[in-house]
Amino acid sequence: MQLHLSTWPEIEKHLEKSKAILIPIGSTEQHGPNGLLGTDALCPEFIGRRAGDDANILVGPTFNVGQAQHHMSFPGTITLRPSTMIAAMTDWAQSLAHHGFERIYWLNGHGGNIATINAAFAEIYHGVSFDRAGTNRGPLRCMLRNWWELPGVMDICRQLFPVGEGSHATPSEVSVTYFAYPEAQKRVAMSPRVAPSGPIYDAADYRLRFPDGRIGSDPSQATPEAGEKIVTAAVKGVVREFQQFASA
Ligand SMILES: [Zn+2]
Repeated sequence: MQLHLSTWPEIEKHLEKSKAILIPIGSTEQHGPNGLLGTDALCPEFIGRRAGDDANILVGPTFNVGQAQHHMSFPGTITLRPSTMIAAMTDWAQSLAHHGFERIYWLNGHGGNIATINAAFAEIYHGVSFDRAGTNRGPLRCMLRNWWELPGVMDICRQLFPVGEGSHATPSEVSVTYFAYPEAQKRVAMSPRVAPSGPIYDAADYRLRFPDGRIGSDPSQATPEAGEKIVTAAVKGVVREFQQFASA
């Protein structure tokens, strides 16, 4: 069930039996020569919607622009300042809380978002505490889950791609998007085959160290078939974890 494909009476009815919602959250940023700019938003969105279909989980719109400053030397990347992202996440959460939602499960697709998401949770909880003084409003809980950390997912990624998984523009995440959008596949020769690894500083330094955008990866190995295996494991993990979180 997707919030933006529902009507308000349907959401009002849904709230009578569940006060939990899944929000995919990601980034719009370069993902190397064959990875889609939307990769980090598309992965949690696709996994989240599949989980929603399998287990009647309500899935909200995707928060699809995040912390991508270090990718800004590559065209197409869009980034938010941390303060903007915290403010926007707080407004999303407060809107949902206003309607009675008490559990927001943020399914994240971008490692660079983690620190800011946790800062946003602190801001959200402050807002709830200050607002609740003298009221009997229910408690709001947020949870962050990075999709690649769901049980079993990393094991499958390592089995599928023992060499060249790397840490950015990985064959695993590119495979998930190719499974979701097979028509968007790109076949590009990688040179070198496995990209260099190293630290991340600012955008200009990033492009000097990692000229085609990849870090430590060989995403030319990506296939829809691999993506299906990863998605199957991730969906199973989301359903189990979301249900526990929703009822806790
Ligand atoms: Zn990514």
